[in-house]
Amino acid sequence: MSGAKTAADQPATALFQLHAQQVEKLPPCQAQCPNSGDIRGWLGVIAQHEKNGLTLNQAYDRAWEMIADLNPLPATVSRICPHPCEDLCTRADKDGAVSINAVERFLGDWGLSRSLPLPRIDSEKHPESIGVIGSGPASLSFAYQMARRGYSVTLYERHSVPGGMLRHAIPDYRLPREVLDAEVERLLGLDIALRQNVDLGNDVDLEELREKHTLIFLGLGAQAARHLGIPGEQGPGVITGIDYLRQRKERSESLDGKRVLVIGGGNTAMDAARSAKRDGADVTVLYRRSETEMPAIGTEVDDARAECVDFRFLVSPTRIIRDGESIQSVQVQGMRLGEPDEQGRRRPLPVPGALQELAADIVIVAVAQASDWHGLEAVDTAHRWLRTRDDGKLDKDLWAGGDDRGPSIASRAIAQGRLAAESAHAELRGERGAGAASARNPINAGAVKTDFYANQQRSQTPRRPQTEWLSNPDAEINQTINYDQAIEEAARCMSCGLCFDCQQCFMYCNASGFTRIQETSPGNYFVLALESCEGCGKCIDLCPCGYLEARD
Ligand SMILES: Cc1cc2nc3c(=O)[nH]c(=O)nc-3n(C[C@H](O)[C@H](O)[C@H](O)COP(=O)(O)OP(=O)(O)OC[C@H]3O[C@@H](n4cnc5c(N)ncnc54)[C@H](O)[C@@H]3O)c2cc1C
Ligand code: SF4
Ligand code: SF4
Ligand code: SF4
Repeated sequence: MSGAKTAADQPATALFQLHAQQVEKLPPCQAQCPNSGDIRGWLGVIAQHEKNGLTLNQAYDRAWEMIADLNPLPATVSRICPHPCEDLCTRADKDGAVSINAVERFLGDWGLSRSLPLPRIDSEKHPESIGVIGSGPASLSFAYQMARRGYSVTLYERHSVPGGMLRHAIPDYRLPREVLDAEVERLLGLDIALRQNVDLGNDVDLEELREKHTLIFLGLGAQAARHLGIPGEQGPGVITGIDYLRQRKERSESLDGKRVLVIGGGNTAMDAARSAKRDGADVTVLYRRSETEMPAIGTEVDDARAECVDFRFLVSPTRIIRDGESIQSVQVQGMRLGEPDEQGRRRPLPVPGALQELAADIVIVAVAQASDWHGLEAVDTAHRWLRTRDDGKLDKDLWAGGDDRGPSIASRAIAQGRLAAESAHAELRGERGAGAASARNPINAGAVKTDFYANQQRSQTPRRPQTEWLSNPDAEINQTINYDQAIEEAARCMSCGLCFDCQQCFMYCNASGFTRIQETSPGNYFVLALESCEGCGKCIDLCPCGYLEARD
């Protein structure tokens, strides 16, 4: 309960009326994870494995399974997720947030190295046939959640290989293709059929697929790129960030000594800039706001700087100047920041007379992604992105999720694919949808007594030496923590809002209100006999994780 009282909150006369109760709360890490991962749950399985009769190997297996329940690509997604789960971790102000992402990555790799099978839900086969367009994370997540519930699923992908942007855009030094390949192969092993080189709108149309399948999921992504719309943009030497990254995945070409200007401040711009650097170019990123407003992941900006990518802030391109076909320079307008826009980011405004020319040979435009609705003539595409219900339902037999509902990040695409599958399955079986974990009340700020927990520094993600980043351009930079670090890090979790068996309540309750459970599991260690409680409130004050609270 968000308004939990402690003994210290009560006037002296009320001290003996604080009857306790055990109430699980939503921890901040889970509230921040786009896929609502039960982070405290899988960290607890590891940290408390001995209390619950598991070996550490068994605990890692179990923790992997809990993650894989919501995300079939944990080794992949953990490598690229900007891990918002760590931003508000209760441990952050003590000695650093728990390295949730590093443990999740360890577990993702653990599952692959031990060939752990993805957990099925239903052994019974359902008669309905499911069609899925695209094979990016949203579609793979939807396909997985339907296949493990007993449906026969077919993916239709316009390219020859599955994976969406994870395969075609994100560079190997951040996400090695072998990791993605291994996780996709494991997923397709659940009897999911993949039909490659099938383009919805060209090779097959939606009505045909609607007749063939009981329902269709649209995971089309945001495949197109927006252009600048300035003079000189049409012609050789200008390429969009997504096209450049896609081409480079097939075959990288030397840009030795070329002056490359990358326009934009998001992840595509950072990937394009760092990739061009690997191809030998002198690279400058131009962004029309200041660094504070850049949407790119902060560590990507730091790493680009470490690789000697230059940045010019508060400039906006107005013209590409050519000599014949060759690009000579880009004219830029100096900007200043005005009032915040609808998204709260300060608006860039031109500074009169502040024009400048920057020499360039190649311009990479990475300003924003756009939709490509070919093949969707029968669907309402009047808006920039598909408008669905919260559960992804678009029409009687159509669900959608991922970047086609607005560009975001991979873990959100996974979540939208999963929620759409849960909704579609419930509808097909005439059931009510599952209750969301977030229905629990969030824990109050300050309810966790952080002083109770011993200091323990956060383990750092190991990294390849910086001297090798450009000389070994495709080698992965971030590495995985080891077996011992994973348990050390899991043990730093304070289990915000759920019992972790510190035994304080059990030891100090004068009324012997707490009885140990025979078969324990994380969160389940003691039963509190409400009739025994004398209302002294001592256990509420002692409970470090905020699980015990006062009854009304
Ligand atoms: C350069 C770049 C860097 C990024 N970096 C990160 C990052 O660091 N971390 C992060 O979490 N996210 C990142 N993202 C975002 C992430 O990749 C996307 O949010 C995610 O891939 C969206 O998944 P999706 O399944 O919706 O779409 P996509 O991954 O785009 O997949 C869509 C799939 O549908 C197929 N398709 C489309 N139209 C058709 C059709 N008509 N017929 C058949 N098939 C079709 C496509 O070929 C593709 O395979 C990045 C994106 C880009 C472009
Ligand atoms: S998916 Fe991202 S936000 Fe969620 S637990 Fe993993 S790293 Fe954290
Ligand atoms: S301490 Fe543990 S439960 Fe609390 S926010 Fe951090 S990871 Fe989540
Ligand atoms: S005091 Fe300790 S054992 Fe008791 S409920 Fe809180 S966390 Fe669990």
